[in-house]
Amino acid sequence: MNQINRHPTTPVRVGPVSIGGSAPVAVQSMTNTDTADVAATVQQVIDLARAGSELVRITVNSAEAAAAVPAIRAQLDQQGFATPLIGDFHFNGHKLLSDYPECARALAKYRINPGNVGKGKKRDEQFARMIEIANEYAKPVRIGVNWGSLDQALLARVMDDNAKRTEPKDPTAIMHEAVITSALESAAMAEQLGMPHDRIILSCKMSGVQDLIAVYQDLAARCDYPLHLGLTEAGMGSKGIVASTAALAVLLQQGIGDTIRISLTPEPGGERRREVVVAQEILQTMGLRAFTPQVIACPGCGRTSSTYFQQLAKDIQAYLRDNMPLWRSRYPGVENLKVAVMGCVVNGPGESKHADIGISLPGTGERPVAPVYVDGEKTVTLKGEHIAAEFQQIVEDYIRQRYTRQAS
Ligand code: SF4
Repeated sequence: MNQINRHPTTPVRVGPVSIGGSAPVAVQSMTNTDTADVAATVQQVIDLARAGSELVRITVNSAEAAAAVPAIRAQLDQQGFATPLIGDFHFNGHKLLSDYPECARALAKYRINPGNVGKGKKRDEQFARMIEIANEYAKPVRIGVNWGSLDQALLARVMDDNAKRTEPKDPTAIMHEAVITSALESAAMAEQLGMPHDRIILSCKMSGVQDLIAVYQDLAARCDYPLHLGLTEAGMGSKGIVASTAALAVLLQQGIGDTIRISLTPEPGGERRREVVVAQEILQTMGLRAFTPQVIACPGCGRTSSTYFQQLAKDIQAYLRDNMPLWRSRYPGVENLKVAVMGCVVNGPGESKHADIGISLPGTGERPVAPVYVDGEKTVTLKGEHIAAEFQQIVEDYIRQRYTRQAS
């Protein structure tokens, strides 16, 4: 792969997960439950973890939320989910972490937004307090700048400095510079306050694709902290997915980004775990990691005889993904499986032969049979009303035979 490697970042441990260095790019997500609602938050963390989120961030915005964190951690542990919890703090983090030491202890990392820590002299004091607590409990922090809540005093200073230049930069470049400066200066301050270099992760989230790319390229060149990558306020549906993918793919291809989060706005009633699926799909389709067997399906065209093949592709994909929480430990390597579901004879057999298992459904005017290919060889031809169930059984048998862990 034509990947440009950034200089290696200093790895940071977040509970059981390593971020940066040679560790694979970690997938994380964030709950949208009221953290004070322990049952709802535990359930959503479990849903996200089952979907493959390796870290989960929760809002800690009130005394009730801070008081709930230890119970959330305890219930997750009881149910066998060691997923690290990251506390998202704004405005009152110094106070909540001081008043609720068990919350400070239960969290695996604190996210600090330097634009939302306080103003003037209080800003430095409150930031220092959060770092002091992180040091006390040996917790890493993410210094997470967001351009929508950028420290305005810092922005004014960067603009003043720019005005004094003989060739001032344009406003966009100044905004980028201010975002990066906020992250780097806050990290330097944290280190001056005794935080070890290997407990700091940075992010500089922007909502524009080109802005995000420019900022992270510059940030990556200027530090070796692991970088948390994500397009903020990416939006809903295909717009959010496409914008996030466009931005992250460019940066990941350049070796920039150690953990990612996709900030999708869920559709009403939509699943929160969608953001985890999209993050995994970005990494997997780029060949950076493998999480779940991939289904290769053709788009269909005038030769497609019915929606049957679309339904089959959808069902197989859902079946593979839904079984992954169990298969992950039972069938090591199954995440690399490729299944092809094709709509007719034009590309069907060829694509099916290149997959581990493939099926070519009958197109318009073709005989109503569906040849199945396993490891490149045609093994059986399915016909009748139970093609879907029979094909699923073939996939299941293949997985069991090929990926069952061998006794050592
Ligand atoms: S494989 Fe057949 S049905 Fe699918 S897009 Fe190609 S020609 Fe159309």
